[in-house]
Amino acid sequence: MKQELFSLKGKVAMVTGAKQGIGKVVASYLADAGADIVLADIQDASDVAQEIAAEYGVRAAAFTCDVTNQTDVKQMVGQAAAKMGTLDILFNNAGISMQKPVLELEQGEWEKVINVNLNGVFYVACAFAGYLVEQKKKGSIINMASMSASIVNIPQPQTSYNTSKAAVKHLTKSLAVEWAGEGIRVNSISPGYIFTEMTQSVRQDWQDCWVDMIPFGRMGKPEELAGAVIYLASDASTYTSGSDLVIDGCYTVV
Ligand code: NAP
Repeated sequence: MKQELFSLKGKVAMVTGAKQGIGKVVASYLADAGADIVLADIQDASDVAQEIAAEYGVRAAAFTCDVTNQTDVKQMVGQAAAKMGTLDILFNNAGISMQKPVLELEQGEWEKVINVNLNGVFYVACAFAGYLVEQKKKGSIINMASMSASIVNIPQPQTSYNTSKAAVKHLTKSLAVEWAGEGIRVNSISPGYIFTEMTQSVRQDWQDCWVDMIPFGRMGKPEELAGAVIYLASDASTYTSGSDLVIDGCYTVV
């Protein structure tokens, strides 16, 4: 076994939505695999950067950035590259959920979900790939889709979320082909229900219903996504692009 296949030593990984939840946990696993880490979030994630640097002995820096602001995103990517020396990996993870019937959405609510979950992913991917192309570097982008890209969750109404994630899945495939010649791989992951701040805040009877429907009989943990992200970020997946990895405790299988 070539032990170095999954190593991220010498690489810099950017994680968006890294203050909490999946982003925070996966960032620590990327650091454990050897990467230096850039944490980008709408909240200040300096505390997470300090914790990761102390625990894994890597460099880690936090940048406050709203992924829906394309100007801020470009600036953040430039500043992160300048501070860290380079960029190699992007875990494009920031996202929000909304459980509301479409006919009850207030003005701007549909746009907000599409802006963060789809446009935000697009803006960060473009700024990141733009940097790589300018530097004539290869890189790997892992976008955060969801099983909601392929199925319609029940009992909660979440059409805006489902639509945004379906678009992320196809955006991923489109960018993978568009950037194949540049040596930039673009893949997505599609988790099922993962126990984070996002899902904990949902009504308990809905959470109970989800768990009843999951063949594994439980929600996933953020760390159960880390291996997939490390695989897609690393040289173990150099021939893999445009793929979507479903990690859902069999939810979408039945
Ligand atoms: P989370 O706990 O809510 O964490 C998301 C982080 O992203 C938060 O720190 C959030 O800040 C930040 N964020 C929100 N809007 C942002 C923006 N405009 N710019 C920059 N950062 C922003 O959510 P999570 O459960 O870890 O989910 C992470 C990603 O996985 C999301 O894309 C989600 O859709 C996806 N996902 C989650 C699950 C699940 O079951 N948890 C399943 C499939 C896919 P605030 O707290 O201020 O909003």
